[in-house]
Amino acid sequence: TDLNALADEYFQIAYYGLKAKDKVGFNCELITEFDPALEPVEVAPQEIGRVLLNLYNNAFYAVAQRASQNHNADYKPTVWVSTSQVSGQEIIRVRDNGTGIPKSVKAKIFQPFFTTKPTGEGTGLGLSLSYDIITKGHGGTLLVDSHQGEGTEFRIELPITKPVV
Ligand code: ADP
Ligand code: MG
Repeated sequence: TDLNALADEYFQIAYYGLKAKDKVGFNCELITEFDPALEPVEVAPQEIGRVLLNLYNNAFYAVAQRASQNHNADYKPTVWVSTSQVSGQEIIRVRDNGTGIPKSVKAKIFQPFFTTKPTGEGTGLGLSLSYDIITKGHGGTLLVDSHQGEGTEFRIELPITKPVV
């Protein structure tokens, strides 16, 4: 699987899907930084796609929420996705400049059914499922770094398993 192509495809699907449903009622800046030297890896593309969709949807939700709370005209909602390759691992980062995650909440985000969203907006299953897909399903790691009021970054680390030729 080409993770650059997968990450790019789902980025568009997530954003235009939410815009079509009017969940993001503004233009968000989408920034991609894909490592052109990334090697193909052996992963289940639909599962990694599902993880990416969860992370993107959460990121767009967080910038939409910050935009609605913050009537500062200088606020420019932005979501970034980048890929890189280091010592046997491929890394996908999904970053947003949304609400950020308070410390008290951060400890619980990977628990099934944990959500801070109103009923109908979130099931609380996205991150717990994503965590299982990355760790149990692919032997990788899913990490979060977040600062309340500034934004959030999720990092997917996948061990490089070369496709069998
Ligand atoms: P859901 O999106 O259905 O609430 P998730 O498992 O995807 O469930 O996320 C759990 C919780 O983690 C969210 O309700 C939210 O509080 C927090 N969260 C996840 N991603 C972000 C993000 N990018 N910015 C701020 N909060 C986030
Ligand atoms: Mg979610």
